Amino acid sequence: MKNKRLLLLYAHPDDEILGPGGAVALYANQGAEVELVIATRGEAGEISDPALATPETLGEVREREMRCAADTLGIDRVTYLGYRDSGMEGTADNQNPQAYVNSDPAEAVSRLVENIRRVRPHVILTFEPFGGYGHPDHKTIHKQALLAVPAAADPGYRPDLGDPWATPRVFYPLVRRETLLAMREYMAARDLDVSFFEDLDKRREQSWPDDLYHVTLDIGDTVGQKLAAFRCHATQFGPDSLFRRLPDEEMAQVLRYEYFAQALPEPEPGLQLNGLFDGLVD
Ligand SMILES: [Zn+2]
Repeated sequence: MKNKRLLLLYAHPDDEILGPGGAVALYANQGAEVELVIATRGEAGEISDPALATPETLGEVREREMRCAADTLGIDRVTYLGYRDSGMEGTADNQNPQAYVNSDPAEAVSRLVENIRRVRPHVILTFEPFGGYGHPDHKTIHKQALLAVPAAADPGYRPDLGDPWATPRVFYPLVRRETLLAMREYMAARDLDVSFFEDLDKRREQSWPDDLYHVTLDIGDTVGQKLAAFRCHATQFGPDSLFRRLPDEEMAQVLRYEYFAQALPEPEPGLQLNGLFDGLVD
């Protein structure tokens, strides 16, 4: 077992990219063990090019895309919980009995606990309560992860699932408004369509506060890996994707810094850390 261990708890293949992809590669390059647990295979996601997948094959295609991204970022192991992607809010996929949003919370939490006790991470990353842009599965993994962390540490909870493990820190990787505004600026300078950014102000109420974060990571050394991992998820980020319209040099500038808010333990006011493992392990 390596002495620096990072565990990501997410809902879909590709959730690992935009918020924390550079940090994952950075710590993996430094020799940390990195594992990813994903609730679904993203079966209800988009298909950028019909030549890549059909709705029937999308889950297995995305599993392959995830393998590519994991290898690119240095993720040691990917574990699927096997729920079904619930789709965007208000779509028919929400009603599927296998959908992750319809999972039995006690069962899903126990499976997260099993993974936490196996990996024994120093740091866990998961979605903030708004789930980035509000995908129901993102909000579900957030809730269940926050229940699983204390349960994993509780010797009285399901001793059959492994020795208790108290995870020292949980962070929310953030996609800050500032990053999106920088992207808009670069795109506007090239006369590209920036209508995607129009409702940024409207979404403010349902977003994590832009100035509430405790770690700023310069990922200049691994932003190339992050961009390459984006391209692995070809069904989600095709050539026309918002995230592929700018030249790599400009995207590298836009994505140069990653930001993390400490979720657990409850941060002291003004807390600033030099990295996710700051003060935990050498
Ligand atoms: Zn997702």
